[in-house]
Amino acid sequence: MPELLLYAIVVAMRYRDTRNAETNVSFETAVMQGMDPQTGGLYIPETITRLPSSFLNRNPVPSFRDIAFEVAKQFVGDEIPDDELMAIIVDCYPFTAPITPIDPTTYVLELYHGPTCAFKDFGARFMARVMAYFNRKESNPLHILVATSGDTGSAVGSAFYGVPGIDVTILYPDGKISPLQEKQLSTFDGNVRSLRVNGTFDDCQKLVKTAFTDSTLRNRFRLSSANSINIARLLPQSFYYIYGSLLIRDRCHFDSKIDCAQIIAVVPSGNFGNLTSGLMARQMGAPIEGFVAATNSNRTVPDWLNNGEYRPRPSVETLSNAMDVGAPSNFERMSAFYSLEESRKIMAGYWLDDAGTKDAIRSCHDRTGYIIDPHGAIGWAAWDSIRSGAMEQLLDGSKNPEGMPGLLGTKKTAPVWAKNCVGKSCVGMILETAHPAKFGETVRESIGREPSMPERLERVLSLPDRSQPMSSDYAEFRSWLEKNL
Ligand SMILES: *Cc1c(COP(=O)(O)O)cnc(C)c1O
Repeated sequence: MPELLLYAIVVAMRYRDTRNAETNVSFETAVMQGMDPQTGGLYIPETITRLPSSFLNRNPVPSFRDIAFEVAKQFVGDEIPDDELMAIIVDCYPFTAPITPIDPTTYVLELYHGPTCAFKDFGARFMARVMAYFNRKESNPLHILVATSGDTGSAVGSAFYGVPGIDVTILYPDGKISPLQEKQLSTFDGNVRSLRVNGTFDDCQKLVKTAFTDSTLRNRFRLSSANSINIARLLPQSFYYIYGSLLIRDRCHFDSKIDCAQIIAVVPSGNFGNLTSGLMARQMGAPIEGFVAATNSNRTVPDWLNNGEYRPRPSVETLSNAMDVGAPSNFERMSAFYSLEESRKIMAGYWLDDAGTKDAIRSCHDRTGYIIDPHGAIGWAAWDSIRSGAMEQLLDGSKNPEGMPGLLGTKKTAPVWAKNCVGKSCVGMILETAHPAKFGETVRESIGREPSMPERLERVLSLPDRSQPMSSDYAEFRSWLEKNL
C-alpha cells in the first residue's frame, strides 16, 4: 500500500502558481509557459518529497547523474519516460560540480565546468532539452525571450543553439556586462539572436515580462521564457546542492576534525534562483543545515531578512554584475515556500561592496592559494566573517553598523544554526558560480595576475559581434518582435 501511494505521488506531480494556489498544471505546461500568463505568477511544485534514505545514505555517494535522474524523476513524473529522461540528463551533463577543499572548514562547489563557464549551464541545458522534448510534435516554432544581467544569455544561447523548432532572443543591458560576457552572448548565429538594450537589467526584464502579458502578441506567437523564472531552470540546480553536500558530509570529518559538522551553503545571489533551488534540495534531504544569502550592494533580500520589509529597488552596478538585481524575481518563490520567520531560521543575510569584493579575492588567494571570481568572493567573505566571529557578535547583541557591509541581523533574527557556527561545528560550502577568467580584470586588480583562460572561453573572443541595438521602450521592442519572429 505505501508503495502504491508513492507511485501515485510520482506520476501526479503538479505545479501551482505563486499568486494563485488554485492553479494546478502539469510539468509540461509549467515549462512551456514559463510563467502563468493570467496572473504573472511563477510556477512551483505542489509538493517536494524527501529522497529515500537508502539513496541519501548510499556509500559511496551516488554519481551526479544518478542524483540528477532521481531528482528529475520526482518533478517530471510520468511525463517523460525514464529512458528518455536519462538520455536528456546524459546529454546535459558531460561535466559535474566538483568539490574543492580550500582550507579545513571551507569547500568550494565549482559550478563553472559547463560550456559557458557559469553555473547557469546546469539549468539552461536541462531546460533546453526538456523543451525540445515537449516541442517535438509542434509545427510552429517556439520563441524564447530571455533577459540577462550577464551569464544567463550565454548559458541559454549555448544551451539552445542548434536545437530544432526553437529560437532564442537574448536582451542584455548595453555597456553593463563584461566584454567577454558580451562576446559570449552576441556571437551566436542561426537560431540565437541578441539585443543590446539601452537601459538596465531591470529594463530588459520588464520588456520580457510585458511581452509575456501582451495577449495580442501571445495569440500570434508561441512565446516562452528562459530566465530563472522557468521552473525547468530551477529544478536541476538542486542536483549539485545534493551532490556537493553529500560529498562534503562524507569527507569533512577528515578535513575539519569536527564530528558531524553541519554544512552551511553560502550562495552568491542576484535573482535568487540558485538559492531557491538550494531550499528545494534541502527539503529533498540534502544535508544542508542553513544558507547564507550573500549579495553585492543590491541587498534587497539581506535587508528583508534583517528588518522584515521587502523593498525592491533599482539595481546598482557592481563588479559582480551577474548579481546586479534590485528586484529579484525568485523572491516570490522563496516566500511561497517559507514565511519571513521561517526564512530567518534557515538563512542569514550578508552583503559586500566592491572594495570588499576585491579584498576578498585577495584574502582568499593569499590564505588558500585559490583564485575565486568576484561572485564567489562575496561567498568566501561571508563564510570567513561568519566563522571568525561575526555570528558571535550578532548573538552577543552587537549588530553590524547601519549601512555597513557585512552580516546583517540581530540576536532575534539570527538563524537557528548560528550557535553552531559559534561553537565551531560548521563547515562552509561556497558556491563558485563563474570561472574567475570571466572576470580577469577584476581578479588581476586584486591579486596581480589574471587567471588562465579555459580554451572554450578563448575561442569566442575571435568571433564577430552580431547583436542589434534596442531601446527600453516596449512599443519598439514589440514591433521588432513582430518583424523578426
Ligand atoms: C546568475 C549569476 C548569479 C546569481 O544567481 P541567481 O540565481 O540569479 O541568484 C551569481 N553568480 C553568477 C556568476 C551568475 O551568473
